[in-house]
Order: sequence, then structure tokens, then C-alpha cells
Amino acid sequence: MILLAATTTATDSSSGPILAFALVLGIGIGIGIGIGIGIGIGYAIACVIWPFRACRRCGGTGRFLSPTGQSWRHCPYCAGTGATLRLGRRIFNHLARLHGRDRSQRRR
Ligand SMILES: [Zn+2]
Repeated sequence: MILLAATTTATDSSSGPILAFALVLGIGIGIGIGIGIGIGIGYAIACVIWPFRACRRCGGTGRFLSPTGQSWRHCPYCAGTGATLRLGRRIFNHLARLHGRDRSQRRR
């Protein structure tokens, strides 16, 4: 008499947790990409509305005071304006210049 013991079953229970993990990972990556795109769009809009930031060299004053505080000179980095273009606006202007849509260079 021969006895055969069935030790394995033909069920699909081993791939269930892996599929669930992949699904959660995919949803997480999708949410992360969506948040990143949202932050990027918000930064682009902010660079259109507020294109300048305070000059890092003079702190936005546009001047360097003498040790006595009575005389001063213009900041050479911002030409005395105290403002410099933000990085996003600089990229936007560069792209606009490449595609011929820069309003500051237009003659007519
Ligand atoms: Zn400055």
C-alpha cells in the first residue's frame, strides 16, 4: 500500500501581499509626483507675480555703508536697486528669449 501525502496546495496566496505592496507603492509614487507638480506650478505662478527677491549681498538695501555710517556706495551686484531676479524668473526669461517672446527686449 502506497501513501502519498499532499504537502503543497495550488493556491495563489503567495502573490497577494506582493501585489498589494506594488499597488500601494504605485499610489504613493503617483501622489508624490502629483504633489511635486503642484509645488512646481505654485512656484512658477509665484515667480510670475513676484519676480524679485532681496539681493543677498546688500540684504535688499542697495547700499554698502562706510564704517562711519555717514557715506555709502551702491551695491554693485544689484546696481543699487536691492532686488535680484528669482531663479525661476531667470529661467523663464531665458526660455522666453530662446523662443523670441521676451517682452523686455521688444522694440515695438
Ligand atoms: Zn545688492
